[in-house]
Amino acid sequence: MIVQEVRKQFPELSVKVYGRDLIYFDNAATSQRPRSVIDKLLSMNELNNANIHRAVHYISNVATEEYEAARESVRSYINASSKEEVVFTSGTTASINLVAHSFGEAFIGEGDEIVVTEEEHHSDIVPWQLLCDRKRAALRVVKVDDDGYLDLKSLEAVLSPKTRLVAVAHISNVLGIINPVKEVIRICHEKGVPVLVDGAQGIVHQRIDVREMDCDFYVFSGHKVYAATGTGVLYGKKRWLDAMPPFMGGGEMIGTVKFSGTTYAPLPEKFEAGTPNFGAIPTFVPAIEMAEMLSDRELMRYHEGVRDFLLDALKSNSRIRLFGVPRSTGDKIALFSFVVDGVHHEDLALILDKMGIAVRSGQMCAEPLMDRFDTTGMLRASLAPYNTMEEAEYFVKSLDKAVAMLS
Ligand code: PMP
Repeated sequence: MIVQEVRKQFPELSVKVYGRDLIYFDNAATSQRPRSVIDKLLSMNELNNANIHRAVHYISNVATEEYEAARESVRSYINASSKEEVVFTSGTTASINLVAHSFGEAFIGEGDEIVVTEEEHHSDIVPWQLLCDRKRAALRVVKVDDDGYLDLKSLEAVLSPKTRLVAVAHISNVLGIINPVKEVIRICHEKGVPVLVDGAQGIVHQRIDVREMDCDFYVFSGHKVYAATGTGVLYGKKRWLDAMPPFMGGGEMIGTVKFSGTTYAPLPEKFEAGTPNFGAIPTFVPAIEMAEMLSDRELMRYHEGVRDFLLDALKSNSRIRLFGVPRSTGDKIALFSFVVDGVHHEDLALILDKMGIAVRSGQMCAEPLMDRFDTTGMLRASLAPYNTMEEAEYFVKSLDKAVAMLS
């Protein structure tokens, strides 16, 4: 089976917890790293440890080449027009904060409006709230319907001549429904409003073509897409990035520095002040190779089978309330957030942990969405293409057992 071959490349998948095989169903929080990524991280630290872009010496040049190769790899993977449009950051949160500061500085003023949705992660809410506070602007919110779909009518109603930016998740980390971001972007662009897509989950489960999508910004973290932690991407259309002032000042982002005035480096360095995470960014190359391998057709068919099995099992259990109920199975990734009638999600997560199953419980950094669904928290099982049908079956049985123990 191809899935077994794939699993061998992820060392963490063969660890034991409490003497049992680990079943890792917390992939939406972070994915596991393949051996190729671990090796790249080690070799960058052992053999290529030199600051980039600065020195003329040999190992600095190698490190710079590795860093820029990662940029090209990301550019090509998301089909950005040029490397100038690919800014490296430390993750999704850093990318959104960069835009909120820099775009906010240039284009947001008193009385302007920024639009987010009810299903955003805190990192796609709070930076906009901070910006609104700084600029005396207002935050408007698009609604999510009872099945967990974005309400596009609510989007149209919320857009106004004062709207300056819409920020929307490609896929919510709670609902797992794939949002119609192309349609969102079309609606917004018709009114001249740029769109930032939070791709933290989208980059993992969808093939991204930023030009086809026509998003103005697309942001994601490396650690969810098999790369090392502390790595992230801000894709921005060149015309926006050119028009935005630098976010942080420091080394490498400058043209010349005089006390009489400073000029800035061209893109993308203008937004990469200071020493970047040069030991980890190069892991994007093997990580993207892995993502491409995992999108293999046979493996995808298998993965969809696992998703459909879990969806059926959870939907057919009358005690379970699932959030993000797809109208067609293809609308949802293998991510299931739910509550069990009469049982606390935290208790369930603790018992499942003892059975070897790693799941997430709580608010999942989406408190407004918890409020929307009138719950204080949920249990979430999120799968990757390396998870197996046997693991899913064991999960369903274990969940039944845990619920029985707590009832
Ligand atoms: N947005 C979404 C949809 C996410 O799932 C996450 C991570 N859970 C983030 C933003 C934040 O990502 P990070 O913590 O890697 O910056």
